[in-house]
Amino acid sequence: MPVTTPPFDPPSDRDVQVVSAQLGRPARDVVGIAARCVCGNPTVVSTKPRLANGTPFPTFYYLCHPAATAAVSTLEANHVMPELAALLEDETVAAQYRAAHESYLADRESIEHVDEIEGISAGGMPTRVKCLHALVGHALAAGPGVNPIGDLALERASWSPSRCECRAYDGIADAGVGAGGGEV
Ligand SMILES: [Zn+2]
Repeated sequence: MPVTTPPFDPPSDRDVQVVSAQLGRPARDVVGIAARCVCGNPTVVSTKPRLANGTPFPTFYYLCHPAATAAVSTLEANHVMPELAALLEDETVAAQYRAAHESYLADRESIEHVDEIEGISAGGMPTRVKCLHALVGHALAAGPGVNPIGDLALERASWSPSRCECRAYDGIADAGVGAGGGEV
């Protein structure tokens, strides 16, 4: 599965259209696609640290794939978060998690420094587990071995980037050629 940290290739028009369809709203300020399904569709979108409207946006890696977000929501509903948080009592895991936080910040800083979110990453890092979507998004972007909690959450999820569960995005397959914004 392709994993990507900055610098990214610029997103294609089709990428932005698929992400918009996944999110159910226009995807804006896309820096690149940080992870993809085996089929090539985006699973993690990377967004500018400061949106065009000026808003600081700390969540550099955003899990956008509907089947992935649903599977991770199921983990959260099944109280996997406190279980994973307990692993941070192990000093080795805690140190890896702090390193994941630093790596996340370094990736974002490579795009742009934004004062308001300095030192703030996502998902509860570096010491808490608050959002598995953010942690799985980071794990997918960075690849295995960077975010220990995100890796474990991804292992536990019923969704995997190596098995395509994408819906058909036929309506936007021919991006740019009369693909005039219709919902599929
Ligand atoms: Zn797919």
